[in-house]
Amino acid sequence: MPRHIQTTLLDPTPRAPGGFRSLATATHRGSTTLFASAREVRDDWCPERVPYAYGLHGTPTSLELAARVAQLEGAEHCFITPGGQAAIALVYFAFCGAGDHVLVPQSAYGPNNDLARDLLARLGIAVQTYDPMIGAEIATLIRPNTTLIWCESPGSATMEIQDVPAIAEVARAAGVVLALDNTYASGVFFDAYAHGVDVSIQALTKYIGGHSDLLLGSVSTCSDVHYQALGQARSLLGMAVSPDDCSLALRGLQTLWVRLAQLQASTLQVAHWLKARPEVERVLHPALPDCPGHGVWLRDFTGSTSVFSVVFRPTLAGEALLDFIDRLNLFHLGYSWGGVTSLVAPHFNLNRDVRQYGDRLVRFNIGLEHVDDLIADLEHAFSQADNHGDGQ
Ligand SMILES: *Cc1c(COP(=O)(O)O)cnc(C)c1O
Repeated sequence: MPRHIQTTLLDPTPRAPGGFRSLATATHRGSTTLFASAREVRDDWCPERVPYAYGLHGTPTSLELAARVAQLEGAEHCFITPGGQAAIALVYFAFCGAGDHVLVPQSAYGPNNDLARDLLARLGIAVQTYDPMIGAEIATLIRPNTTLIWCESPGSATMEIQDVPAIAEVARAAGVVLALDNTYASGVFFDAYAHGVDVSIQALTKYIGGHSDLLLGSVSTCSDVHYQALGQARSLLGMAVSPDDCSLALRGLQTLWVRLAQLQASTLQVAHWLKARPEVERVLHPALPDCPGHGVWLRDFTGSTSVFSVVFRPTLAGEALLDFIDRLNLFHLGYSWGGVTSLVAPHFNLNRDVRQYGDRLVRFNIGLEHVDDLIADLEHAFSQADNHGDGQ
């Protein structure tokens, strides 16, 4: 009996001719992925054992992105996560359990520290913060139950460059996993694995996505043992990613080099211009000597990117500084960075024991606008501040 068209319409067998080749990676959608025979049905997150068991574990689109990020970072393995913060959470779940102790720099991305103080504390994981400039002295903080050390270099907002090789040496001697948040360098300007890191994470949301229109993260490693721990945890946590977002990130990778080159040049120009202003006390840009750890940056990094902070003098602080920010037209106010648009955000009263800049620290992200227009915008906002209170 011929089948009803209702049934025929559901037959997944392709009708279109095969052999299509395009320069774009196809966007493969799928929760269910099909097995060829009953004996092959098996749930396993690991593509080396079962290439496609379930959409959660990977599609050709997400595994393509993972392979390319691994290649970029010089890693053996990479997992794509729903965002950078999810990548951070995955590292904790892979390497920490109740009773364990973790070291996190005070300059870490804020939600990393928040996760530690809130959820991880409830699960019995003790997270201790440390001065990011500690270097080899971190050995004094390691306890018998320390299982994980985080580095983030440069740090968020206060931009300290960490001596990652010195910390890596201590971590290796103590048998502790060293994880690095490598978002700033985007896997391009800092070689995590050559500097002794075990696990490198990125917010792909920033430079790899590159256009402020997606949220994704990555966790990569050279170690087969860490790969198994991360894969197991990612699967159990159900960290699924959208193939559409992965497709956008793959497109972003194609222009990563040219964007970073332009962003580096424009950002250095703006940073040097700001450094020469009388209202500015310090420019916390890794390539400028004001930045804590500048010498380490010169030694370990091959470039700089688009985000940096400015510490203003007390004459342009607090309310006056907020007014200055509001007078900017090309710098938009918002979180995140690494896209094509310039951004600005005040970071007042950060939770830090050291290098606490009070109500004088502002973070800038330089985009792809013409640098002369950005400088003119800053100059205009400064000139209005100078006139302020001059009377009639
Ligand atoms: C933005 C950011 C993250 C978090 O990334 P999301 O994709 O926004 O979750 C993590 N680390 C650093 C250093 C970041 O700047």
